Amino acid sequence: MRQLVEVQVQSEAIKQMTNGNPLLLKDAITLPAGDIEEGSLLRLVDKAGGYIGTGYYGTQNKGIGWILTRKEREQINEAFFVKKIREAAEKRAAFFTSDDTTAFRVFNGEGDGIGGLTIDFFNGFYMVSWYSAGIYSFREDIYNALKAAVNTRGVYEKLRFETNGQYIEKDDYVSGEKGEFPLIVMENGMHYAVDLNDGAMTGIFLDQRNVRKSLRDNYSDGKTVLNTFSYTGAFSVAAALGGAAGTTSVDLAKRSLPKTIEQFAVNGIDYESQDIKLMNVFDYFSYAVRKGLKFDLVVLDPPSFARTKKMTFSTAKDYPKLLQDAIAITNDGGVIIASTNNASFNMKKFKTFIEKACTAADVRYSILEEHKLPADFAVPNNCPEFNYLKVVFLRITK
Ligand code: SAH
Repeated sequence: MRQLVEVQVQSEAIKQMTNGNPLLLKDAITLPAGDIEEGSLLRLVDKAGGYIGTGYYGTQNKGIGWILTRKEREQINEAFFVKKIREAAEKRAAFFTSDDTTAFRVFNGEGDGIGGLTIDFFNGFYMVSWYSAGIYSFREDIYNALKAAVNTRGVYEKLRFETNGQYIEKDDYVSGEKGEFPLIVMENGMHYAVDLNDGAMTGIFLDQRNVRKSLRDNYSDGKTVLNTFSYTGAFSVAAALGGAAGTTSVDLAKRSLPKTIEQFAVNGIDYESQDIKLMNVFDYFSYAVRKGLKFDLVVLDPPSFARTKKMTFSTAKDYPKLLQDAIAITNDGGVIIASTNNASFNMKKFKTFIEKACTAADVRYSILEEHKLPADFAVPNNCPEFNYLKVVFLRITK
């Protein structure tokens, strides 16, 4: 039987919660003494014992759990999860029937009412990501609910939480048809190869869909394009399909070479006509300066944190310098797509980084486009802080 624990919410945190913020922060609630099991249900009350909501206990990097309902009588069971997944799927009706996009997010955690759980759609297959042992304890009900709510061809999962200080290494297959990988999905008519059973990532970050489309449609034709932190080269593919004069993809992970070749190949692009460099981006910047290389368009989408043998990098601290390096190898009148998924700062702060970099590089800039998360990456009402993606298209004038 699942534990039900009554916990008191600090008065300062109540307003945020009633405003719509579903995240339970450690400091905001008083937990009873003794151990609480992951997945326990929490009955959240105010000082006077008045009901605020029901949540679950699940520790992840952000917080110790999430509010699931604000209705006192609502039970957290399979029927609850069916309702949530159905509502989320209905919101994505246009994606399900799209002719040219077959990869999108069906369920976005807190934005769809269950923090710690995301579900992505890849051409009939579903990828479920669990962000705490707490939410994973609802696994059976949630998988039954998924089957009841949508038509699943096959189901895969990723466990994105640690147990005893370690990530569990396991096969990601759950049920239904086994996929043959790479699985080819479509995004606005572009093809992408994904693998649902190969480590932490699938080969494509779905939240950049609108950015890739705009890059292809509006900024690539006849241009030289540099894609830094290129991973599987998804932006390079979009640029090449948009008529780029050439693309250069730079990533230091060895797997990025075969993966990028594959992404070009599934789009009928001869990878030998494109440049793929296995290199540290910071070394590439000095190399390009030495060689006098410059680009019409530079994509800058680094991980929030990165550690190599020589250095550590964090976008919260180092973005201005990174952008300054990119500006140095951008042609006069060129475009930089500056992107970050670091949730610890907002768009306003990100724009101060842009300002700082352009001042230091002594260039002028104008903002051509801004993007946040696309519609399928739903965010809770009144809670812009959950909209972690920030992308700004800059025109650089030297
Ligand atoms: N922009 C990509 C996603 C980037 S994921 C896309 O939209 O698909 C982050 C990538 O940065 C990883 O592939 C990782 O290998 C790479 N990376 C991290 N630090 C790096 C560095 N110093 N130099 C080059 N690549 C780096």
